[in-house]
Amino acid sequence: MKNILYKSNERPYLSSKKHKGVAVCPECKLVFTGGKWKRTEVPEEYTEVLCPACRRIKDKYFGGILYLKSELLKTKKSEILNLVKNREEMAQISNPLRRIGAIEEKQDDEIVIYTTFEHLATSLGKAIKRAYKGELTIQYKENEKAVRVYWEK
Ligand SMILES: [Zn+2]
Repeated sequence: MKNILYKSNERPYLSSKKHKGVAVCPECKLVFTGGKWKRTEVPEEYTEVLCPACRRIKDKYFGGILYLKSELLKTKKSEILNLVKNREEMAQISNPLRRIGAIEEKQDDEIVIYTTFEHLATSLGKAIKRAYKGELTIQYKENEKAVRVYWEK
């Protein structure tokens, strides 16, 4: 019997356990070994498996969405985006699957940043608030796949 509640699209992102041997992501060259995706030397023998971060980016199935809305973006956009990129690099040290998947510049004063997993969107939002003040709102909704983080100033 089919379980109609089963969300087939959730599975691929959670099932990293099923790769027994060593896998390498063909996109970003992360190596799956010892139960984790790591930034390490690519071994001689491996199977190619898209890592959860690249899979999410490819499917546009993001875990976090960060909305930035501020007049500050008109004058400090590159400074703010630099901060965002630095935070992303720091996050990757502890977990290389935490990544920015897309950045959309909606208006002069509005940018949307999509992250592979929710943690990065919230930590980016907090870093921006620490640096530039303003209001930060974090919304987790039970039925939504992504956390939504709003920064306004
Ligand atoms: Zn990858």
